[in-house]
Amino acid sequence: MIKPKRTVQKMRSYVPPKEEREKYMRLDFNESTIGASPKVIEAIQNISAEEIATYPEYNDFIKQLAKFAKVKQNEVLATNGSDEAIKLIMDTYLEEGDEIVLPVPTFDMIDIYATAVGAKVNKINYDDNLNFPTENVLKSLNSKTKIVVLVNPNNPTGTSIKREDIEKILKKAKKALVFIDEAYYPFSKQTAIDLIKNYDNLIIARTFSKAFGLAGLRVGFLVSASVNIENMEKVLSPYSVNRVAVIAAVATLQDIQYVENYADEVRVSKELLYEFLESKGIDYWNSAANFVLANFGKDCDKTEKKLKANGILVRSRTNDVMLEGCLRITVGTKAQTKQLIAILESIKEGKKKGLIFDMDGVLVDVRESYRESIKKTAEFFLGRLIEMEVVEEIKNKPGYNDDYDAVEGILEKEERFIERDNVVKKFQEYYLGRNFCGFVRNEKPLITEDRLKKLRTRFKLGIVTGRNRMEAKYALEMFGLSQYFDAIITRDDVVNPKPDPEGLVKAMEKLKVTEAVYVGDNIDDAAAAKTAKVDFLGVIAPGTDPKKSTRALKSKGAKKIIESMDKLEEGLV
Ligand SMILES: *Cc1c(COP(=O)(O)O)cnc(C)c1O
Repeated sequence: MIKPKRTVQKMRSYVPPKEEREKYMRLDFNESTIGASPKVIEAIQNISAEEIATYPEYNDFIKQLAKFAKVKQNEVLATNGSDEAIKLIMDTYLEEGDEIVLPVPTFDMIDIYATAVGAKVNKINYDDNLNFPTENVLKSLNSKTKIVVLVNPNNPTGTSIKREDIEKILKKAKKALVFIDEAYYPFSKQTAIDLIKNYDNLIIARTFSKAFGLAGLRVGFLVSASVNIENMEKVLSPYSVNRVAVIAAVATLQDIQYVENYADEVRVSKELLYEFLESKGIDYWNSAANFVLANFGKDCDKTEKKLKANGILVRSRTNDVMLEGCLRITVGTKAQTKQLIAILESIKEGKKKGLIFDMDGVLVDVRESYRESIKKTAEFFLGRLIEMEVVEEIKNKPGYNDDYDAVEGILEKEERFIERDNVVKKFQEYYLGRNFCGFVRNEKPLITEDRLKKLRTRFKLGIVTGRNRMEAKYALEMFGLSQYFDAIITRDDVVNPKPDPEGLVKAMEKLKVTEAVYVGDNIDDAAAAKTAKVDFLGVIAPGTDPKKSTRALKSKGAKKIIESMDKLEEGLV
């Protein structure tokens, strides 16, 4: 093996996330949780072969950056993320043996790049309340100090540095560079860019990775006096920001409102999270950024793991100096934050609630089975074709949860009265067919195993359905979902079907829970929940008219209604 240079031999590795983060709610790396503006996606989609075939050009981009940062064009430099900006500063200014002053805990990459060029990193601890250690930073300056690093607001503490403290350091460190990393500027709205006019030893870095939602494209930029920009440009690779990134960055600068709106929502979300943490007695630090550092103490690892089991990634900072027991949690939209809080709450309580589902239209898409069977049976006895709307209409009326009742209801409207046994027989012929080859084959699940697994860590899961036992079992087994439910109450298990609460009461007894949410799609479900005194979550069944269903459910007192089962987790907060 060829040994790397001495400074590299001593370095530790930074381990970026390798797992598949896409399927999680990603509150671990402070990226935008809503992604880039749609204008960015549009711009990238319209890229030409020629634009990709040619080396990137920066004129227009630099013009826009300068305008955005309110500086002259020769005072900005675009970089491949602010990571490259940090590296560039170290490469341009540090000789082996030079010192940098780095208040910690902070962003890892600064230490890494400074160490790689052989500089000595003089780490100054933040104070006990994680406030910026201004006095100790001032005291640490000496003749070897080449760079003082200020991360404002700081990552991972979220705390910010007062303007007057920044100026104190700029004044005292006349012989050193002061580098300010403003990665979270769109959230903090605090900048020192205007000071570059007065201080030629000041360099500021910004990024498009966080609020702007372009982390995957790698774009950032530096702002400083033009002489510094010129010197750094000598060291920078001439095409370090690629063409696609330039196009995306220009597009996002043209849709700044999108980013501002997101930052505004994050501010509101942050208050929600503070309020929750306070109510649970969990210490946290006021943050000027889009993340909150909170001290979970001995519950730190457990909370991180359980959040992950529930589909949410957060970042443990427990191994950082002074941060034992701390998690850093990215703050996203209000809906995401409410979901996070609901899960944190359930982790904290340890006691599980029941989550009970109706089957048809909730767990199972029955558009092409039951609804089709009702339609065919009614058509058989009427001797003519009818529209699916007729079926939907009857199902939205009270007392027609049972599908045989629904068939009879359709027939009665036309003064046709058929004996129940005959209705049942014909219906079953269509639905089950021979050897389950009827419309039942067309049923599709509305929830995945993966989601049930996650829900199971928070809730005890049950089913209360108007189906008979055989039909309920058949569908659950066909989809491979039966093992996730600890109580399955069917038509065969109760004397009185819904809207009677009997089924729900039985399910709760079996689950051994005192509190539950019932997820249902029709008014009999809502009525049963009300009488059983459990929370009701209405869901619009696939293929039904959202307006009509919503109106019907609300008439039975449903307070929360979700537009589809895809929104279940949001409905459970
Ligand atoms: C995330 C982060 C960066 C990295 O930004 P990139 O532009 O993606 O390289 C830089 N500084 C701080 C403080 C950060 O938190």
